[in-house]
Amino acid sequence: PLPVVAIIGRPNVGKSTLVNRILRRREAVVEDTPGVTRDRVAYDAEWAGRDFTLLDTGGWEIGVEGINLRVAEQAEVAIEMADVVIFVVDAIVGATDDDESVVKLLRRSGKPVVLVANKVDDQRFEADAAALWNLGLGEPMPLSALHGRGSGDVLDAVLDVL
Ligand code: GDP
Ligand code: MG
Repeated sequence: PLPVVAIIGRPNVGKSTLVNRILRRREAVVEDTPGVTRDRVAYDAEWAGRDFTLLDTGGWEIGVEGINLRVAEQAEVAIEMADVVIFVVDAIVGATDDDESVVKLLRRSGKPVVLVANKVDDQRFEADAAALWNLGLGEPMPLSALHGRGSGDVLDAVLDVL
């Protein structure tokens, strides 16, 4: 089986946008309103010659039985399945209580984590990204999933720990 890279984070932080960026095609459903559509979960992906399975846990915002899984519950399942976790935080909003709950799960799991500070569309928002050092998960990697800024660095960091 291929290694599993799971993308976790609150609704609306840009997980599906990042999936599309990694796949280099628009396959995951990107929504302005969180939790409306049940999206698919697993994608075959490749970067720099490495194949892996990419999980977009936003697909579980409305669970298979129509149950709303809470952010931490989704994260727990995804972390369990993952070889590497990409934890996406909205750098403009900053870390929320839900994000802090996910941090606790990540710490407990011991799984390798790449912390992504998304929505850093230009250099003006770098300071917002740096504020996420406070989560204690190491260096926040600034990203604009929307425009692609920083995506190569994020993927290189993922492959480093895969
Ligand atoms: P998900 O719920 O975490 O999967 O988030 P989506 O990928 O569906 O994105 C939610 C919203 O955030 C959409 O309106 C996206 O266009 C927007 N978005 C995602 N990434 C970025 C980004 O890097 N910059 C900005 N400005 N908006 C983004
Ligand atoms: Mg999504």
